[in-house]
Amino acid sequence: MPRPIQATIHLDALRSNLRTLRHVAGDAKVWAVVKANAYGHGIERVFEALRGADGFALLDLEEAQRVRTLGWRGPILLLEGVFEQRDLELCSRLGLWHTVHCDEQIDMLAAHKTNEPHRVFLKMNSGMNRLGFRPDQYRAAWSRLNALPQVDEISLVTHFSDADGGIGIAAQVAAFEQATRDLPGERSLSNSAATLRHTAHYDALRTSDWVRPGIAMYGSAPDFPEHTATQWKLEPAMTLAAKVIGIQQLQAGETLGYGSSFTAPAPMRVGTVACGYADGYPRICPTGTPVLVDGVRSRTLGRVSMDMLAVDLTDLPDAGWGSTVTLWGRADNGALLSIDEVAAQASTLGYELMCALAQRVPVVTT
Ligand SMILES: *Cc1c(COP(=O)(O)O)cnc(C)c1O
Repeated sequence: MPRPIQATIHLDALRSNLRTLRHVAGDAKVWAVVKANAYGHGIERVFEALRGADGFALLDLEEAQRVRTLGWRGPILLLEGVFEQRDLELCSRLGLWHTVHCDEQIDMLAAHKTNEPHRVFLKMNSGMNRLGFRPDQYRAAWSRLNALPQVDEISLVTHFSDADGGIGIAAQVAAFEQATRDLPGERSLSNSAATLRHTAHYDALRTSDWVRPGIAMYGSAPDFPEHTATQWKLEPAMTLAAKVIGIQQLQAGETLGYGSSFTAPAPMRVGTVACGYADGYPRICPTGTPVLVDGVRSRTLGRVSMDMLAVDLTDLPDAGWGSTVTLWGRADNGALLSIDEVAAQASTLGYELMCALAQRVPVVTT
C-alpha cells in the first residue's frame, strides 16, 4: 500500500477556467501558459483539457517538444525566446514562435540558416525591468528584425508588473501604446490578473489579439485576497489530499510535534496526516492553517514535519483514523479550500505551492 497521499488534477476545472478566461478576454486568442510543467500539474495531464486554447506558451524547449509530441500542431510560444544559437534550429524544426527580448537574440536570428522565416514576438520592457527593449529602443529593434529574411511576422508583446493590484497597469499600457502606435502586428499584453481585472477598462487590452493566462487557468485568484477564485468563477484544478494515519489524545498543557511549538489549552483530539514538507506542503504554515477533514473545515496544529502534519479533530467526532484531509482543492463532499488561502498562511502565492508539488506525490486525473 503506497503512502495515503494523492494529488488530483481536475480536467473539468481546467476546461471551465479556460472558458471563463476566454469569455472575459472577449475576442482575444488565448495562450494557455503551461510553463513549469503546467504550473506543477503536468503538461501531459492537462493537455487534453487545454487543447481548446489557441496556443501553448512556455519557456523550455524540452516542454515545447513535449507539446508537439502530444500532437499539437498549433502555435507554441517560447516566452523567454531562445537561449543559444542552436535553439533556433529546434524552433525551425518544430515551428515554434519565440519572444525576442534582447539584441543578442536578434544577432542569433541574423546568423540562423533557415528556409522557413520565424514568427517572433518582440518584447517591450514597459516598466517591469526584467526582459525586453525599452520603449525608446523598441522601434530600432523592430526595424532590425523586420529587415531579416529569417523573420516572418513580428508581434508586439509586453508584461505587467502590477496587474494584480498595487500601482496597476496604466503607465505600462501608456508606454506600450505610445511606442507601438503605428507598428503593424498582433499585440499581447495580459497575464491572468490583467485579463480578469483590467480588460474592461483599457482599449489596448480589449483590442489586443492574445492574452496569456497562467495561474487563473489552474484555479487560483491572481489577486487574492482582494478577490477569491470563486469570485472570479475559477475552480481549483489541483487537489492535494492525504489520510489520517494516527490519532493522539492530548491533555491540557501537553505539547505537539517538533519544537513543542503548540500547547493544548484543553484536552484535544489530534489527527496525524500523511503529508509533510517533503510532499510540497509548506513547512512555514503556522498552527491554524485551514484544512478540510472529510470535507469539514479544521486547522493544522504545531510544526509541519517532513512526512506528517497534525490537524485538530477535537470538534469533529465523526473524523478519525482513515479520514481524508484535503490540504487544498476540492473535498469529496464538494467543499473547497482555496490554495490561495493556504499560500497566504505561508506568505506566498498559489503559484509556488502548485509548482512545488513534490515528485513523490502520486497524481491522478479526473
Ligand atoms: C508566466 C507568464 C504569464 C502567465 O502569468 P500568470 O500570472 O500565471 O497568468 C504570462 N506572460 C508571461 C511573459 C509569463 O512569463
